[in-house]
Amino acid sequence: MSTFGAKLLNQDMSIARYFCRFNSMQVEQAFTQSKLEQDKKTAQFLACITAIMIMLVTYSDKMIIQPNFWPGIALFSRTISVAVCVITALGVCYIRTPQQLSQAVAAFMTFLFFSMQFMVFTFERHYVLHMFFDVIILITMYFSTLLSLKNATLIGVSYSAFAITVIYFNKDVSSHTFYMVGLAHVSANFAGVVMSAHEHLIRRQLFVRNTQLSQLADEMKRQAFKDALTQLPNRRAFDNNYEGYQKLIKQQNKTKHVCVVLADIDYFKRVNDTHGHEMGDTVLKHFSTFLTNSLRSADDVYRFGGEEFVIVLPLCSLKDATALINGMIARLNAEEFKLGSCSLSIQASFGLTIMREEQQKSVISRADLALYQAKEGGRNQLVIKI
Ligand code: GH3
Ligand code: MG
Ligand code: MG
Repeated sequence: MSTFGAKLLNQDMSIARYFCRFNSMQVEQAFTQSKLEQDKKTAQFLACITAIMIMLVTYSDKMIIQPNFWPGIALFSRTISVAVCVITALGVCYIRTPQQLSQAVAAFMTFLFFSMQFMVFTFERHYVLHMFFDVIILITMYFSTLLSLKNATLIGVSYSAFAITVIYFNKDVSSHTFYMVGLAHVSANFAGVVMSAHEHLIRRQLFVRNTQLSQLADEMKRQAFKDALTQLPNRRAFDNNYEGYQKLIKQQNKTKHVCVVLADIDYFKRVNDTHGHEMGDTVLKHFSTFLTNSLRSADDVYRFGGEEFVIVLPLCSLKDATALINGMIARLNAEEFKLGSCSLSIQASFGLTIMREEQQKSVISRADLALYQAKEGGRNQLVIKI
């Protein structure tokens, strides 16, 4: 299962609509982590746009800057602002966690708002059209969702209060203009909060859907690679793992090999014919458990189809493999499968071979040939064919 889906399995994925956050801290962290790289790009883009905008408006600003502020203070303050934007854009590359990004964005926005207001301070006393930029920055901040809804609202509302105060004390404007500027700020914050809340919710809902889809895909993949009756991996799983075994071959030496064994229950049809298909199924399940319990933890066993199983013994000597299989044959001969009221004696034949750098078809057909010889030779035995 992908770590993304697995990590959040059985987690509370509900969203606190009022705060636009996941109720579970772990899910919220996974969500912010999942969008970190995209958010970093957005933050860099916005910092660059801000730098370009400041540079572009500087010379048109000249027309409305008070003479005693131009060029000295005005150019100096704008240069600092552009430099901070560029440093922020570059610094974002080194950010590793959502918390760092959120702190960086909050710090940058605070700086930007203060520097904006300093610029306003240098404008002529009747000029208030800078508020268009205030509104654009506010809306962009809210809509980017780089900050949590709470932090964005806190910064946005504080900024508006600050900006309105600056106009009130520093500008000579009519009460109508002052009222209009105030209205623009209130509307920008109101629209910003609503849009931001909507965006925060939509992104989280999308995250939930994506997580559920990825978990479903993982589950379907697992089912597709599993045999429903015995719960063992199936033939498709063997095909899927084959490349891994081929890589292991490169690690094998004179004594250690990747051994492949084809196992087939002897006269299984008789079990079905005598005791019924259901009993046949039970025998298959017991035989699967027997195989799994007989193997080392590094070994794999697959149900290939019917009453045929493939065992893979990675980096195992031929001697050890032979001893392991012969031990299984001996135990099968000694034990009786107790299935409800009746007990059955089950035997099986085994064909063993060593995997080379080859197609799975070749290794399986070699093991199949060995199995065929085991059957021909009287069953209940192991035949090795290298
Ligand atoms: P041999 O010793 O030559 O292997 O003989 P056999 O009877 O074991 O082999 P054969 O191929 O003649 O029969 C296999 C039987 O396995 C036929 C089929 O009905 C049965 N079988 C295959 N899959 C299942 C299953 O999932 N459940 C049950 N109950 N039977 C199955
Ligand atoms: Mg059989
Ligand atoms: Mg068979």
